[in-house]
Amino acid sequence: MPEGTTIWDAAKSVGIDIPVLCHDERYDPVGVCRVCAVDVGARVYAAACVRPCEDGMDVKTATPEVEQRRATLTQLLMADQPPTDQDPKETTTADNELLALARRYGIEREDGIPLGGGRGEDFSNPVIAVNHDACILCDRCVRACDDIQGNDVIGRSGKGYSTLIAFDLNDPMGESSCVTCGECVAACPTGAIVNKPINAVPIKPRTELDSIDTVCPYCGVGCALTYHVDRDRNAISFADGREQPGSQRRLCVKGRYGWDYASSPQRLTTPLIRREESYPKGPLSSDVRGEGRGRRHKPGGLVDYGEVLPHFREASWEEALDLVASRLKDIHADGGPGAIAGFGSAKCSNEEAYLFQKLIRAGFGTNNVDHCTRLCHASSVAALFEGVGSGAVSTTYGDIVNADVAILAGTNTTANHPVASSFFKQARRRGTTLVVVDPRRERIADHADIYCQLKPGTDVAFYNGIMHELIANDWVDREFIARRVTNYGELAKTVRQYTPERAAQICGVDADTIREVARLWGQAAAGVIYWGMGISQHTTGTDNARCLIAMCSITGNVGRQGTGLHPLRGQNNVQGASDAGLIPMFYPDYQLVTRDDAREKFADAWGGRELDPERGLTVTEIIASALQGGVRGMYMMGENPFLSDPNVNKVRKALSALEFLVVQDIFLTETAEFADVVLPASSYMEKDGTYTNTDRRVQVGRKALEPPGEAREDWKIVCDIAVRIGLPMDYGSPSDVFDELASLMPNYAGLSYDNLGESGKLYPNPDPEHTDGTVVLFDERFGTDDGKAHLVPAEWLPAKELPDEEFPFILNTGRLLEHWHTGSMTRRSYALDTIQPEAHVYLNPDDAAAMGVGDGDFVRITSRRGSIELSARISHRDTPGTCFVPFHFREAAANVLTIDEIDPHGKIPEYKFCAVKVEPVGGRAATNGGAEAGAGGRADAAAPAAERAGPAT
Ligand code: SF4
Ligand code: SF4
Repeated sequence: MPEGTTIWDAAKSVGIDIPVLCHDERYDPVGVCRVCAVDVGARVYAAACVRPCEDGMDVKTATPEVEQRRATLTQLLMADQPPTDQDPKETTTADNELLALARRYGIEREDGIPLGGGRGEDFSNPVIAVNHDACILCDRCVRACDDIQGNDVIGRSGKGYSTLIAFDLNDPMGESSCVTCGECVAACPTGAIVNKPINAVPIKPRTELDSIDTVCPYCGVGCALTYHVDRDRNAISFADGREQPGSQRRLCVKGRYGWDYASSPQRLTTPLIRREESYPKGPLSSDVRGEGRGRRHKPGGLVDYGEVLPHFREASWEEALDLVASRLKDIHADGGPGAIAGFGSAKCSNEEAYLFQKLIRAGFGTNNVDHCTRLCHASSVAALFEGVGSGAVSTTYGDIVNADVAILAGTNTTANHPVASSFFKQARRRGTTLVVVDPRRERIADHADIYCQLKPGTDVAFYNGIMHELIANDWVDREFIARRVTNYGELAKTVRQYTPERAAQICGVDADTIREVARLWGQAAAGVIYWGMGISQHTTGTDNARCLIAMCSITGNVGRQGTGLHPLRGQNNVQGASDAGLIPMFYPDYQLVTRDDAREKFADAWGGRELDPERGLTVTEIIASALQGGVRGMYMMGENPFLSDPNVNKVRKALSALEFLVVQDIFLTETAEFADVVLPASSYMEKDGTYTNTDRRVQVGRKALEPPGEAREDWKIVCDIAVRIGLPMDYGSPSDVFDELASLMPNYAGLSYDNLGESGKLYPNPDPEHTDGTVVLFDERFGTDDGKAHLVPAEWLPAKELPDEEFPFILNTGRLLEHWHTGSMTRRSYALDTIQPEAHVYLNPDDAAAMGVGDGDFVRITSRRGSIELSARISHRDTPGTCFVPFHFREAAANVLTIDEIDPHGKIPEYKFCAVKVEPVGGRAATNGGAEAGAGGRADAAAPAAERAGPAT
């Protein structure tokens, strides 16, 4: 046993159970409940959870005296517990460990000493209820909130018997800074903090529910979770975090509470075909026409089914699939392969991504297949391929704990990758120096040792300034450079021009801070960089990422524990969809479509089909081509480009111009309004498949629910269409598809459904039967042809559309913690929609004051491409002259405003920078987050949602 092992840990390791209430192996022990008292032969009993083992120590864990003492303690704790009808053997979301102890010692409530109760309840959070009378002040929730999630919301207030756990300054939980991750619910041993039922699905005892071990459907962190399913209702009752090395039972609000969209009454349940009389096509629903009207949206701000559905008629699967196949075949025959394009989805599984690109490539002979990776990290991937010969991360997010210094660059990680951010915060508490670089002071900046608030669009100047200092002070790794890096001389020549003073002039971070970051980075034994879309979503996105690659390479910070490059991937399966070839320039596993050997390999594997030797069009190029009549027929599986692509007005024209559009989705999306055929697909919860997270962890997602009506699994629909266009696709299960893709993808070699286990595996994994996979890549050589890192120097270039007199503000766009992309899932989740029901623009207090705008006042934001109206939130996180609009809300669609200029290498749009003007338009939101009376927003959206919620249990 290592030095310091506690008695409790030692006993557990040999199968001896010592009861405890205030402890869990994930927390530092505090020894406050004393239930774990053991006899160590001393004058007083010792608390096993805090007392370290000693040589020769004789420990008695369950003598009659020790047990009697535990019984007495339990009786005292039970004394003022509120009545409950829970059976301790069948507890619900928070296992009621106190009741279980009471049962063990035969203690009834009435044996206790009633103290009167009355410490109160708190139902202010939409999905969590607090009953202070059931609280034994064990502080597990406090440590879960502080030490595990790093949110620092829960503490204590009061004295003596009136002591309570408190949220912030004893605020109601729902009005505090709580982010509803539910870690406190998972921690609480007494049922003092519990889940509320969602959408009136009762939280039954676990023994009455099916437990399905799967993976969260939202972000690239890929947290492992268990859905507890009520089979009578075909609905999820509640979710728990599950053990897996990457997520360690943690979840965020989306994973723990955002699953009920699957049971929405708005699910598509039957194929739909546009009626003859509903041509010509166009956007049907009134809210998104290039003029977002944030204050006049309907509750939930979603597509108006009543307006859209009458333009379609129900059809059988046979009729719909036959029509899809024949129309796409006709367009293909008439216009050639280039007239067809497909958008797959990073929400779908690896198998579905693989089959979709196979259908487009082998079935239609074109590489015009892409997905939303183009909109998030395409520039990072372009730079990584060029620089290190691989688009995947070189280490995991959990590896931060081994780093001396970590740079978080352009990532709103607490919102976009909440569980990864909990590891970042935890690493900082354990000694990693955290440097946060972002124009917007996001929540993670509150945890930084150094926060660099650079001006938007100046990343290249900032990082060149740092590299200038690294080289000037000889804080580079000369041996690493000589052995493993090319083009160092050109890089050094370029960054020589970026003295800290010059860099500071461009980026706005003072020269001394640039020097200090350079010193920290240059002197660190291990440094790692994690970055987000603040780096990638620029017309200079590839240059930004090139700088980060160079920073790591010249200091030898790649290929060792605690070092490396990690673009934090957004969607749950954007890594896997890219791996599986859902991109126009690569076959699966990044084998170039332009290479003869790769083309022959896939042609052979796919039945001798003739494959396109040219790279295909990207998402943005396909939209441009459709506008010009090039692409005429499209298949969209789970993408909603009408809201997700830049410059909505242009996308609208492109979608309207298509001769034929088939949309496969679970809801009527804004894009489906332009469809000729709509195919009802399965949600994540309704199918099996594998998903690859941002760490390269391949995990199995398991079916938890039956699809509604006639909705079908996506992979089966792709097969049905393939067969109809003459491409055989005969698979019995996703596992068969996985076997095929793994046989063609060297990085997935050796992986199969059977050996992925409960936690999945990191690829590459040469020994999948015995290991979890490879954490650190490039220990000996990079993935490039010569095995070296190829440095590409970058000169700073300004953004494409700078502010001017007419449009004086810089618009930044991004996500909120509670919402996901175009909101089709999260806005149909009770918890997420209730917490964040409507769009806001975040404005600096000085700018707001200068315009006479108060919190909740409505403003109009106008760019050269369109205009939206929405309410303002005054935010100290935004600098003067900038504003931030989340892009989830169709009624105030940020992409009405964004510019469709793209990075020349990654072809990613400049979502993070365009010029706008902001004007007050009168009127106020009714509440924080609300809207004018009768105008929708929180007041309207929350009411039906509240009706859907059941009472607390
Ligand atoms: S609410 Fe639960 S976890 Fe928190 S201190 Fe009370 S009993 Fe412990
Ligand atoms: S961090 Fe990401 S994967 Fe984990 S629960 Fe939240 S949304 Fe899901």
